[in-house]
Amino acid sequence: MEKITIAIDGYSSTGKSTIAKQLAKALGYIYVDTGAMYRAVTLYAMRQGYVTLDTNNTEALVGSLALINLKFVYNDQLGFAEIYLNDENVEREIRTMEVSKLVSKVATVGEVRKKLVHIQKQMGLEKGIVMDGRDIGTVVFPKAELKLFLTATPEKRATRRYKELLDKGEDVSYEEVLRNVEQRDYIDTHREISPLKKAEDAIIIDNSDMGLEEQFSRVFDFSKRVIDKQKKDVH
Ligand code: C5P
Repeated sequence: MEKITIAIDGYSSTGKSTIAKQLAKALGYIYVDTGAMYRAVTLYAMRQGYVTLDTNNTEALVGSLALINLKFVYNDQLGFAEIYLNDENVEREIRTMEVSKLVSKVATVGEVRKKLVHIQKQMGLEKGIVMDGRDIGTVVFPKAELKLFLTATPEKRATRRYKELLDKGEDVSYEEVLRNVEQRDYIDTHREISPLKKAEDAIIIDNSDMGLEEQFSRVFDFSKRVIDKQKKDVH
């Protein structure tokens, strides 16, 4: 089977990673969650005291970027790869509200983006990859054979995220989650370097009123169509 590259971008908490994971599994592709990479760098910056709600010591963070080592390790039981920051599994810690509140700030730093985009491009060299994030179809893989752009109303997204956080035992309010989703959307779409925007050739999927099954079946069909076309073009 001809392998393709699938880029999934979109607003915060649109369920990108859920659909990307399912798709990668069904196609036998690698799944990469680039948000986890920005979150892990943010966790590092928080621990060093480089970033807080009121400060952003970009210089110190950029100066220590070489000390940040990220890797994904596949977890058989979970069925997806977990992220490691300097050999520590930080999969849980990077999903807290604390990190969510600071990650978009860290993601505006050009040198951080440069380092992570470089790693992401390397991971995609052999295709057969589903990658989700904010700049995958525009910057990381502008030539991806299939690009999806996920969206939903801020309220729907905040409701889903709020439930997820409650399930994990976090003490948050719905209003706090909604504010965070809207703030991240704003920073992500307005930043100077590779802002979040739909690639011209991306397919928009508004999942405000769409169940997971319907969404998956649509996305899987799109993928099969592109893969089949690729096969025909090659032979
Ligand atoms: O996908 P997730 O919500 O975990 O991403 C967290 C944050 O990381 C986003 O709000 C965005 O600021 C940043 N990000 C980015 N570029 C990516 C992936 C994530 O700027 N490719």
